[in-house]
Amino acid sequence: MSQLKYCQGPKCHTYDTKDRKKGPKDNKRNETRRRSSFYYLNNNACSMQCQADWFDVYGSRALQHFGMITEPRVLTADNAWVNRRDWRSEGNDRYYAYNHLTEERRPITEQQYDSDTTITNDGRLTI
Ligand SMILES: [Zn+2]
Repeated sequence: MSQLKYCQGPKCHTYDTKDRKKGPKDNKRNETRRRSSFYYLNNNACSMQCQADWFDVYGSRALQHFGMITEPRVLTADNAWVNRRDWRSEGNDRYYAYNHLTEERRPITEQQYDSDTTITNDGRLTI
């Protein structure tokens, strides 16, 4: 069983639900939700509300911490590659790398498609 962790939503404990209630009758309190996994905020928040609360409090600080862009990011033929699968075709041309801008296709293997190693995170072809 995986480790339990707390929802990172800064206001999680303020939402009044049965599962957040803890403590004996004379000392009732609401606590932050604790789970082995979450669906929101990259597995760190229990609900869309908690995710939005986190972003409201920390979002702009996170942008400042990691750096705001000061120039546009640019898509050129060099970084416009994606891997695609054509369900209708058979054999060698079923899997291919496709360039958005030039519309060039380069065949790749099913294994390359599955492992997703032919294209870098920023869209550059490595084969
Ligand atoms: Zn929460």
